[in-house]
Amino acid sequence: MAERDYYEILGLDEDASGAEVKKAYRKKALKWHPDRNPGDPQAAEKFKEAAEAYQVLSDPEKRRLYDQYGKAGLRGMHVGEFTDLNDIFSAFGDIFGGGGIFEQFFGAPARPRQRRGQSLRISVELDLEEVFTGTTKTVSLQRREICPQCGGIGAQKENIRTCSACRGYGEVESRQGFITMRRTCPRCGGSGKVIVKPCSKCGGRGRIRKSVELAIEIPPGVESGARLELRGEGEASVDGPRGDLYCDLYVREHDVFQRSGADLLCEAPISYSMAALGGVIQVPTIDGKAYELKIPPGTQSGELIRVRNMGLPKLNTGRRGYLEVRVVVETPRRLTKEHRVLLRKLAQIEQENVSERRKGFIEKVKEYIYGADSSALAGE
Ligand SMILES: [Zn+2]
Ligand SMILES: [Zn+2]
Repeated sequence: MAERDYYEILGLDEDASGAEVKKAYRKKALKWHPDRNPGDPQAAEKFKEAAEAYQVLSDPEKRRLYDQYGKAGLRGMHVGEFTDLNDIFSAFGDIFGGGGIFEQFFGAPARPRQRRGQSLRISVELDLEEVFTGTTKTVSLQRREICPQCGGIGAQKENIRTCSACRGYGEVESRQGFITMRRTCPRCGGSGKVIVKPCSKCGGRGRIRKSVELAIEIPPGVESGARLELRGEGEASVDGPRGDLYCDLYVREHDVFQRSGADLLCEAPISYSMAALGGVIQVPTIDGKAYELKIPPGTQSGELIRVRNMGLPKLNTGRRGYLEVRVVVETPRRLTKEHRVLLRKLAQIEQENVSERRKGFIEKVKEYIYGADSSALAGE
């Protein structure tokens, strides 16, 4: 890459103020940040280039020398000597005070610090019967656990040495004129120790993948789409707390019942005669038993009969919802001879005894078709 002028890199005029330099660098650093451009070597190069420009222009002494002599004036001042991107994070990550620009925008700490294990997510399917009783589900999953051979350190004790670059302090100093800059040791990443031979079981990572079986207790009354949080059941971390396990619940459709919160709805066909005369039918319940449901005389098709305490338990109170039976009057499609004889007789009776509801309907039709004075016309 051709050498570019530091002002040009940050898009600044030569008389830019300190605040403008800071602002311009922040903009460039965010644009070319490796988190935003993963695996893009050109972006990484630009990110470094901007850091170098900032390193010089934000320092009055370096800037004066650069303005006067160009890059030649900076010789021997360790300008732009970044071993890797982590160097840049540790040099400038917190230079803006507070959380530092990187933390503020990416939540990525500039210095290594305690990291939580990753949280995991699984989903579990349930039958409605299991929602009714509550249940324990055994799931198997893969998660990273602390390596039993090295205890998460990544090596046997005899293979860990004090870092020679920082002599175990985790920080290195570089002197530039009167100013001494401290930064995280690039060799050991701030731990003060280096591993000469990594653990053979985990390859130095400190953790290994393991399949585990977990028994997950699911309380009665859960809804589909609910999420259980199992604290600390996620992945282990070598230097921080464990992650959590999120368990998303899905309740399968049921053949008989539709669910609405704690209420269960089912449909029951009944005959015309039962609707008219009343009677008793058997309806299913979620406990797998039959319930004798009373059909009152004069029940209309589509009417809802609600039975208290026969639904699902509510998650908080444990009190059960309703069983709601929608009664549908079934009209026979195939008639026997006897059916026909009786129905004709019934039809006759019905013609002689028109119900108030049907009378009202007939009136309305006449009114609509013949107008308001239909009463005179309708000499029935
Ligand atoms: Zn190990
Ligand atoms: Zn070190």
